Amino acid sequence: MSGCAAARPTRAFRTAPTGQAIERVTTVVIGAGHAGLAASQFLSGRSIDHVVLERGEVANSWRRERWDSLRLLTPNWQCRVPGLRYEGPDPDGYLTMTETAEFIERFAKVSGAPVRTSTKVTSLRHAGDEYHVTTSDGPVRCRSVVIATGACNRPVLPPFAAAVPASVEQLTPFDYRSPDQLGDGGVLVVGASATGVQLAAELQLSGRPVTLSVGEHVRLPRTYRGRDVLWWMDAAGIWDQRHDEVEDLTRARRLPSPQLVGTPQRTTLDINALTATGVEVIGRWAAVRDGRALFSGGLRNVFSLADLKMERLLDTFDEWALTRGRDAEVGAPERFPPTRVPESARLQLDLRSGEIRTIVWATGFRPDYSWLDVPVVDAKGQLRHDGGAVDSPGIYALGLPVLRRRKSTFIYGIEDDAREVIDHLTGYLGASR
Ligand SMILES: Cc1cc2nc3c(=O)[nH]c(=O)nc-3n(C[C@H](O)[C@H](O)[C@H](O)COP(=O)(O)OP(=O)(O)OC[C@H]3O[C@@H](n4cnc5c(N)ncnc54)[C@H](O)[C@@H]3O)c2cc1C
Repeated sequence: MSGCAAARPTRAFRTAPTGQAIERVTTVVIGAGHAGLAASQFLSGRSIDHVVLERGEVANSWRRERWDSLRLLTPNWQCRVPGLRYEGPDPDGYLTMTETAEFIERFAKVSGAPVRTSTKVTSLRHAGDEYHVTTSDGPVRCRSVVIATGACNRPVLPPFAAAVPASVEQLTPFDYRSPDQLGDGGVLVVGASATGVQLAAELQLSGRPVTLSVGEHVRLPRTYRGRDVLWWMDAAGIWDQRHDEVEDLTRARRLPSPQLVGTPQRTTLDINALTATGVEVIGRWAAVRDGRALFSGGLRNVFSLADLKMERLLDTFDEWALTRGRDAEVGAPERFPPTRVPESARLQLDLRSGEIRTIVWATGFRPDYSWLDVPVVDAKGQLRHDGGAVDSPGIYALGLPVLRRRKSTFIYGIEDDAREVIDHLTGYLGASR
């Protein structure tokens, strides 16, 4: 495949019937997060002329869509992209948002990516056997497109959020910056994945009584046998598992993020840690009726399932260490107490009583393809693709959950995916010339 499209730069302009000049490039990359920049790096390596269109600035999501205290949950030694890696003094620490944005910015500079900032793609459609990209800065024609607009463009809220009484303020992780923004009084955090547990901990610490609504979740200790749990996942090859080896790919792609936080103390932030600080846990939020929030009663089952899955994962780590002769390098096997089930979890909350002043929805994120005028989005709003080759020849995607591997959405997971996706794209260009 390689070299098929060692394309001469084909950037050119022609005039549309409207009189507006249409720029032509071989490939348009949409989005200048780490995924779009990695695509650009491999396109440059294959001499494929391209532009990276970014509606904001480089690393926009890290700058605009995250809360103040957030640190990466992946350790610094995992902070690597093609041609650049963290080389600071604290490989086991976790970057702040400012540091993360600076890292991605450095990647853009080092790779020399042809990024056009403040250029929003408002439409992508077929134009014969090419694609027509409409942007806030004029149209572009191209033969291929890499969609690297991120998997987390919009917060997901359940439909019953609309039935919450107006007296209760509602926030999403996109609106939330710090506890100072909230009035006094109780906070209901909905969702106990990475975002929910982190926000619940921070709000409880701010002196507001926090209730956490918990559904299915992935429990993990921050460290295991003296090493970061993500070291174990990496070493045991779990993140490298390929999309075509995963038993239930649809489920794997929907798996919630693990209960992890990146703190200098490397603290574990599971339900036991939260309840120890006074957070009240209740079941999954099911409905709103007459101003009352109704919660499921199945906490015991939800907790045992999360505990069981964690135990199984730790067994896998132990077995890996034993069979690979690595046992002596790490500490002794550990087991953690089961998640404590509250004696009688509340099944409803009266949202008009004043007990809850703010609801923080930590119920997940989804991509936004409202600008995409090629029919490649399924009924659930997800791109139809096979390992990043989208269901329309010449369109590719990067940075989506388990796109080609379990590590696809992580910063350090992009290199292998981007290389293979751009290989495929190169082959496509060669074959379709
Ligand atoms: C809260 C949170 C914490 C995370 N923590 C970690 C972590 O600790 N470690 C880790 O490895 N990963 C983490 N991730 C996952 C992942 O690394 C990030 O989501 C990362 O930002 C994804 O990179 P990306 O390049 O795919 O998308 P993004 O960084 O979102 O980049 C997409 C870019 O596309 C632009 N864009 C979108 N639409 C358009 C358009 N129509 N026209 C032009 N430009 C457009 C956006 O402005 C944005 O700059 C986290 C994700 C979230 C949400």
